Amino acid sequence: MVNVCDIQVMKPLLAEHGFHFSKAKGQNFLIAPWVPQSIAQEAGVDETAGVLEIGPGIGPLTQQLCLRAKKVCAVELDTRLKPILDITVGEFDNLEIIWDDVLKQDVPALVREKFAGLRPMACANLPYYITSPILSALLEADCFDSVTVMVQKEVAQRIAAAPGSADYSAFTVFCQYYAEPELLFDVPAHCFMPQPKVTSAVIQLRVRKERNWGALDEAVFFRTVKASFAMRRKKLSNGLASGFPELGKTGAAEVIEAAGFDANIRGETLGIPEFVRIANEIVKRRS
Ligand code: SAM
Repeated sequence: MVNVCDIQVMKPLLAEHGFHFSKAKGQNFLIAPWVPQSIAQEAGVDETAGVLEIGPGIGPLTQQLCLRAKKVCAVELDTRLKPILDITVGEFDNLEIIWDDVLKQDVPALVREKFAGLRPMACANLPYYITSPILSALLEADCFDSVTVMVQKEVAQRIAAAPGSADYSAFTVFCQYYAEPELLFDVPAHCFMPQPKVTSAVIQLRVRKERNWGALDEAVFFRTVKASFAMRRKKLSNGLASGFPELGKTGAAEVIEAAGFDANIRGETLGIPEFVRIANEIVKRRS
């Protein structure tokens, strides 16, 4: 197996194929072998798993996934990587590469078609310029056991943040609504070629089997969350009144009190069950 993390091996191979890194495509490739090994291991990839990888690049994580999983399906946008991946992962017959934009995929259909009878999981060193849309698509697809990804450390901290903390955001609530996050480990910039300007971190999202949050209308719930964070450090009633103009300021305050909270409460201190109570009051007022 080609040692993809050995830059003495890979630099001449990339040069031979005239490959130049694309910043626009978020190309920072792993050159520290412990990182892809740890991601595949911590993700719990084994012969019962069907793994969707996003952005295989030159294949360091792909190799580790193929060594462990029953089937790996990798989606890569940059077709210039084709001859290189032929060399680094061409030997694996449990690998299928889809040459396309991951955001254009029908993820649930892909998982149904490729991973029938397997435990579906997603694993990736994500292109950082589209971390949020990819994670949103993977969680909303509602078809993975777990999603284990490398992201910017500050994004990982945001995903795992607790109510009331500086990192807590609408994206935190979105991710934790669907899944339970666990920060696994940090990855310093020197583990990549070229080196990114930020520290990275691997985070695992264990997808909740049942989402017993009790939201009467998920669309209203997510609108409530968005409105609550739109005006940080202001009273929740202001954010709600602006996110739901039909309520007006008085209606927003009434909703908050009917949900059992003080009218002066601030949105960024609330957890998911509290947002559900407020969203459900809005739904009730409509009917
Ligand atoms: N997995 C490799 C590694 O760990 O070294 C590469 C990771 S690199 C951070 C991100 C990869 O995602 C690149 O190979 C890039 O070409 C690919 N990529 C960028 N945008 C993409 C998209 N929209 N769909 C699929 N792949 C994409």
